[in-house]
Amino acid sequence: PLTREAMEAFWLPMTPNRQFKSKPRLFVGAEGMHYVAQDGQRILDGMAGLWCVNAGHGQRRIVDAIQTQAAKLDFVSSFQMSHPAAFELAGRIAQIAPSGLDHVFFTNSGSESVDTALKIARGYHRARGEASRIRFISRAKAYHGMGWGGLSVSGIVRHRRDFGPLLPEVDHLSHTHNPEQMAFSRGQPSWGAHLADELEKLLAIHDPSTVAAVIVEPVTGSGGVFPPPVGYLERLREICDRNGILLIFDEVITGFGRVGAAFAANAFGVTPDLITCAKGMTNAAVPMGGVIVSGKVYDALMAGPENTIELFHGYTYSAHPLACAAALAALDVYQDLALFEQARRIAPLWEAAAHALKDAPHIIDIRNIGLLAAIDLRPRDGAPGARGAECASRCYDDGFLIRASGDTLLLSPPLIIEEEQIAALFAAIRRALAAVG
Ligand code: PMP
Repeated sequence: PLTREAMEAFWLPMTPNRQFKSKPRLFVGAEGMHYVAQDGQRILDGMAGLWCVNAGHGQRRIVDAIQTQAAKLDFVSSFQMSHPAAFELAGRIAQIAPSGLDHVFFTNSGSESVDTALKIARGYHRARGEASRIRFISRAKAYHGMGWGGLSVSGIVRHRRDFGPLLPEVDHLSHTHNPEQMAFSRGQPSWGAHLADELEKLLAIHDPSTVAAVIVEPVTGSGGVFPPPVGYLERLREICDRNGILLIFDEVITGFGRVGAAFAANAFGVTPDLITCAKGMTNAAVPMGGVIVSGKVYDALMAGPENTIELFHGYTYSAHPLACAAALAALDVYQDLALFEQARRIAPLWEAAAHALKDAPHIIDIRNIGLLAAIDLRPRDGAPGARGAECASRCYDDGFLIRASGDTLLLSPPLIIEEEQIAALFAAIRRALAAVG
């Protein structure tokens, strides 16, 4: 087996991953709901890898599709060339996206999707002769990836702080990060609209005609699973429309079934101008991302004032044949298993299991939507994050993979999770909470 020394000899771990350092975790296999660790232990995957293996690991149909494609056509550039599966995939995605979102630009990751969406937003306004629209508005606690664009609109301070200067023309709305506000907003229909009014205030400070786009995760993911208050997304849509601002939903986590519909936009009945996606697009078997674009944006980009705008953008691996094959197979699997419906069906059980933890030690708050959940733990005096890390670590030793972000436990299992597995997962968390000091 690979030793820790051998791993650390040449590896550059940029992410300070304390859990990993204290106990290297090497997986040598994965099937369905489980990883197989190097020591043979089977670990129930409570994170779908990293919010991405929505249909569970090792889906045969996806594996076969990748192998067949690799043998047939390994690569073709997206610059002046392409291949049939790319067009087929764009069509299949347009079919499940909210109506009106019908063109797809392919990328290789969520970060590239966000950077691409921001560039499309500026390109859209420029093509319409509104080059002054350069500003982006996003939210505190937002996670939009690691590229310079995505990082600039991200609102998680720890991610941003060592890398400035970032894009200057970004404002962060402070709402959806204040736990009391969010807790209060539950069951308060008027509060969603009230939160969105913060956007109006920002627009009153800036000239709205300088704003290119508002970007939000419909459900804040990595920042701690904050579902939107009732009416909030509708109000954002209305304010953006009134001010000629594009609305971008970053659905890298919520896309492909995580909240019980193809996209959160479908689930909430609010249609943005652009959707960014990745992760579940190929069931994570091959890296791939995309930006789904409305007809309105597409038409403006394609027309431009007398086609004077070139808008040069693209990646070597855009619409990579292996990724397209994997994504088409993943969509087949999602459809055959009726996986989005299954996620919606099992979500109430998931919710009940999550909230049954409320009297366990150290709990401050529990949030959930679809097959997502976050559990905030009270930080240990003088050691923020330690309790979360210990809890995740104990779960792992017990055979369950969950994620700790500081003192927030994050859960996002494959959508194929069964009732008994949900019970076992939360029982493991309960045991861990009882054991951590
Ligand atoms: N946006 C959101 C909402 C995400 O959750 C993530 C990744 N967790 C990204 C963008 C970045 O995706 P990637 O890591 O594939 O670049």
